[in-house]
Amino acid sequence: MRPFVYESLSSSQQAASRCGPGSAFIAGGTTIIDLMKLEVMTPSRLVDVNALPMSGIEMREDGLRIGALEKMSAVAIHPEVIAHYPVISEALLKSASGQIRNMASIGGNLLQRTRCGYFRDVNTPCNKREPGSGCSAIDGENRMHAILGTSPSCIATHTSDLAVALVALDTSIRIQNGTEERLMKLDDFYLAPGYTPDRENQLRPGDLITEIRVPKLPWAKRSAYLKIRDRDSYEFALTSAAVALDIDGDKIRDVRIAVGGVGTKPWNLPKVSQALIGKSLKQEALVEAAKLAVEGAHPSKHNGFKVDLVQRTIVRALMNLGGLA
Ligand code: SF4
Repeated sequence: MRPFVYESLSSSQQAASRCGPGSAFIAGGTTIIDLMKLEVMTPSRLVDVNALPMSGIEMREDGLRIGALEKMSAVAIHPEVIAHYPVISEALLKSASGQIRNMASIGGNLLQRTRCGYFRDVNTPCNKREPGSGCSAIDGENRMHAILGTSPSCIATHTSDLAVALVALDTSIRIQNGTEERLMKLDDFYLAPGYTPDRENQLRPGDLITEIRVPKLPWAKRSAYLKIRDRDSYEFALTSAAVALDIDGDKIRDVRIAVGGVGTKPWNLPKVSQALIGKSLKQEALVEAAKLAVEGAHPSKHNGFKVDLVQRTIVRALMNLGGLA
């Protein structure tokens, strides 16, 4: 690990001036410390934001507000979260071990870096870590990689389970930069890799995610997160589905679906949702609509199985939620 300067912030207005080029924010540290040890990230200054007033979990008239410094564990077990948005709680509980959940912040979770093994190995080419060096995964080991949103520059999956759940729920994040604030849909925040896979989101220097806002959605009480992984313990998703379902008898009144483990960003599926609204909740209709999820899929040598698996993940998640399974 290289030497770095450490400082702690006492006000969020300071953040913009203290976090310039070569600097990085730290909250729980569960991603950045790992990556600094591997010398994948080498900030010369670490700016600790833990003393900032960015906590709290609160149900309001217009929905759920979560401070970005809240720990994953606190959000996962919060009674309002479990009651109104079980998909958030489930996504968090299936994300990581208790130790990680106790340390990692919600804001940091949304900014975690890919688990592509080449990204974490500084001895191999990787466009995300070192722009222009090439992508070792395209002709290498790519079983865990993305099939949606890929580019000739990068095929890495986005790894946050929480982000998949939040995108399905049409969540926004509040971003502060000095005295300026802006609100942005999480779905718009993440960028597909294109030719600049090192640019993963819309954050600008000095930007700080301060708050997560999940809109009111009473029928999200019927929501769930299904995660398919190689082992039934803490492991990254092969595929996953965050679903919320509003039914009237056997008719689908509304539905939200986003998938993980397959996209270079949390993959929202409004077309699949639209195809299901007004349909009877029957396995055949779900199977038919799920085909739309893989439009434009571009599997690599070792991950073609995800094309079928993600469709079955969506169908299974909806059947579980609708009481068909
Ligand atoms: Fe790097 Fe992306 Fe290629 Fe992985 S898939 S080696 S992160 S460029």
